[in-house]
Amino acid sequence: MRRAQLRSPRTTHAIQTLHVVILGNGITGASAAVRLRELRPDWQITMISGESAHPYSRPALMYVFIGHMRYQDTKLQEDSFWPKQRIDLVRDWAVELDAPAKRLRLHRGGELTFDRLLLATGSKPNRFDWPGQDLRGVQGLYGLMDLKLLHDNCEGARQAVIVGGGLIGIELAEMLHSRGIHPTLLVREPAYWSNVLPEDEARMVGRAIDAAGIGLRLESELAEIVDDGTGRAGAIVTKAGERLEAQIVGLTAGVSPNLDLVGDTQIECERGVLVDDGLRTSAEDIWAAGDCAEIRREGDERNLLQQVWYTGRLQGRLVAESIAADSRAAGAAPSYDPGLWYNSAKFLDLEYQTYGEVRPGGRGQESLWWQHESRQMGMRIALAEGDRVAGFNVVGLRYRHEVCRRWLSEGRGLDYVLDHLGEANFDPEFEPRFEPTMATSMRGARP
Ligand SMILES: Cc1cc2nc3c(=O)[nH]c(=O)nc-3n(C[C@H](O)[C@H](O)[C@H](O)COP(=O)(O)OP(=O)(O)OC[C@H]3O[C@@H](n4cnc5c(N)ncnc54)[C@H](O)[C@@H]3O)c2cc1C
Repeated sequence: MRRAQLRSPRTTHAIQTLHVVILGNGITGASAAVRLRELRPDWQITMISGESAHPYSRPALMYVFIGHMRYQDTKLQEDSFWPKQRIDLVRDWAVELDAPAKRLRLHRGGELTFDRLLLATGSKPNRFDWPGQDLRGVQGLYGLMDLKLLHDNCEGARQAVIVGGGLIGIELAEMLHSRGIHPTLLVREPAYWSNVLPEDEARMVGRAIDAAGIGLRLESELAEIVDDGTGRAGAIVTKAGERLEAQIVGLTAGVSPNLDLVGDTQIECERGVLVDDGLRTSAEDIWAAGDCAEIRREGDERNLLQQVWYTGRLQGRLVAESIAADSRAAGAAPSYDPGLWYNSAKFLDLEYQTYGEVRPGGRGQESLWWQHESRQMGMRIALAEGDRVAGFNVVGLRYRHEVCRRWLSEGRGLDYVLDHLGEANFDPEFEPRFEPTMATSMRGARP
């Protein structure tokens, strides 16, 4: 790894010789660095992260812990890729940003000056000042340091409680289960992840959790974490007064944009670092993208906060184009188009994909749901005006990404989609075909 050259501040630059610093080497920062190198072969690019020397795949953390993957196999590129691309990697924490002076102060001492800066600092796990949250054995799951901590915390532990009903909580449960520790998920809502999933899908996930032998307490909220007398967690107590023994307490109640470095600056923030559709912040020559960024929307539309892997990659590539554009050239800067929403996850053995617009909890939207009577399989088609298909939730089945996206972008109607469902089935050779019953059942459910 090459150390970046630490330089003194500069004030004027020719466009050919700019130094771009990328803060954060997650999918956003790494995608931006690669794209920027394609666009600007001559610029100096430095990417900093306190977490890891090389960019790696955060969603693969679970597989590293369980032993299904080695850490080195989760790296986004071979180590030799970065020097070949002349992208300098710095392993350090930035502790202060002086935006007007275009300077970062680093934890190990020294300063790094830039002409253009990308903030790609990701998210941080939420904490809600729960009594006992600083005891040993209490932790979140976000990065490599958490894996090491979890490994240590597992020593001698028998039970765990995981607070929060989202995707990371269920991964943490699976990780602990793989070490013979019994986890119980504590979920405030009446069904798992029901602020996102409609009730039917949430119940299916609940059944998958039961079947895996993982505990699930619905409509339960954490009141406090109890000290075992040695400064380590020994149990938790819920707001209803229930006590659950737990030597490990996982805090996975969502994430929020990491604003640590911008807190003391004039850069405008709301939930995230506010950016325009070219992902520019309110400060000159500073951009933000990925989990930490909040994209301003016009009129009544809510600002956009996207905190998933593929949007990090999309935003990373786009922000590189925005940084590379000569801002003096009118109309040169690109604008971010979020396109159709897509996400996929695995709840234990249950696969889940969502495309387009299926509203949170299914609220305020007409939709049709089909579910296999005995197997864990379901499909929801959400509708917009005039029977146009607005989105899909696919659970326990695998449907073709490109076909679902095409139907949505072509604005296909319900009848067309039901007539052609078989085209989207990913495994027609190996899976029994459910499309005819699915189509009949959905048509029958219409008034
Ligand atoms: C356990 C887990 C599983 C996930 N699984 C999925 C999944 O299956 N599918 C999916 O779509 N999404 C998943 N996500 C979400 C996805 O990983 C994130 O949306 C994505 O990683 C965000 O990328 P990013 O580059 O914006 O930020 P990050 O990946 O968070 O990278 C930011 C980097 O910046 C560094 N940094 C921050 N501040 C500083 C500083 N001051 N100095 C130096 N370095 C700094 C951080 O250490 C970090 O390495 C998962 C997240 C977690 C935590």
